[in-house]
Amino acid sequence: MPLISPWRADFPGLRALDADGQTYLDSAATAQKPQAVLDALLAYYAGGAANVHRAQHLPGERATRAFEATRDQAARWLNATSRDEIVFTRGATESLNLLAYGLEHLFEAGDEILISAAEHHANMLPWQQLAARKSLKLVILPLTPAGDIDPQAAATLIGPRTRLLALSQLSNVLGRWQDVQPLIRQAQQHGALTLMDGAQAVVHGRQDMQALGCDFYVCSSHKLYGPDGVGLLYGRRDALQRLRHWQFGGEMVQQADYHTSTFRPAPLGLEAGTPTVSGVISLGATLDYLERLDGDAVARHEATLHRMLLAGLGNFPGLRLLGEPQAALACFTVEGVHSGDLAHLLTEQGIAVRSGHHCAMPLLQRLGVAGAIRVSLGLYNDEADLQRLFAALDKALELLR
Ligand SMILES: *Cc1c(COP(=O)(O)O)cnc(C)c1O
Repeated sequence: MPLISPWRADFPGLRALDADGQTYLDSAATAQKPQAVLDALLAYYAGGAANVHRAQHLPGERATRAFEATRDQAARWLNATSRDEIVFTRGATESLNLLAYGLEHLFEAGDEILISAAEHHANMLPWQQLAARKSLKLVILPLTPAGDIDPQAAATLIGPRTRLLALSQLSNVLGRWQDVQPLIRQAQQHGALTLMDGAQAVVHGRQDMQALGCDFYVCSSHKLYGPDGVGLLYGRRDALQRLRHWQFGGEMVQQADYHTSTFRPAPLGLEAGTPTVSGVISLGATLDYLERLDGDAVARHEATLHRMLLAGLGNFPGLRLLGEPQAALACFTVEGVHSGDLAHLLTEQGIAVRSGHHCAMPLLQRLGVAGAIRVSLGLYNDEADLQRLFAALDKALELLR
């Protein structure tokens, strides 16, 4: 019996892609959405849209209640200590830019920001630009050949000049779970702030903010089977209060006159303007869906499928994996084959995979490759998807060699 996903039927997008002859293996870029999320999105608009936090009327009250219910749910889902530790943004990228501006006043020339060599551009460029504005040093933690942050190197690089440690928990290229907890503790011993980029991690395992102990955590709804245009920023209550306001406008103000104003504290003080109301409400439906799933069964399914992926790729001579992926994805090149050509032939056969630099150009440079193919899995993928991938790879490589 081939491995099938019991959750596949929940995702109408996959039925549509199947009908188009497309095999979707790009969930690390964005995930398909379950019917329950589409229902919530439609229900908000079809039931009478309204803005939040402003109006006294019934539709406004209803929208505000649903919007704020998602904040409670997100706090529970991430095991934050309070709903006030959850800020809604428009994505992980916006959360990271918010942090880079909001924390700017805490840095002095010569301070160090530490990131790993495996960061997505979203967790590198905001810090690179902040470093340039304030004459800070961006320090890059090196990786082992498998793709882990080298613990010995990290222990020597984390020191009294470290003001911020910003790491992705699960790389979108290497698929390695980083052992971040000891690094968070080391950084905190030196009085540094700590931030985890969980854009990939939250999709493959529920995260517990109190256990993790970092100051800030960011992720995006759209990779988590939810709507796009919504991100979560978690900040420990004391850490969140240190952020400077970054966008100014409606609803974040306490008292305004023409020349001076006072602003609300977080979270609302960091949510200027009309938020993505429909998206936040349907993120609530997404978290409902995820909470109802048997998390252990999902983890088992994904682990089995990932093993099958690696085993199948291992059968192709000359195929080289980038690092040793542990979860969700595999990035690879094939000796003597241009990965752009290979991607093109896979695309022609209806295999939807990612190719190129995966928003991590410096990492690919370090690994000595110009581009790579990435296959990434969601809970709805099954063995038949992999078989179509392997057959297409076979055919493409035959043509290219
Ligand atoms: C996708 C991704 C981001 C950026 O998320 P957006 O939703 O595009 O803002 C950041 N970090 C990692 C590890 C990612 O995979």
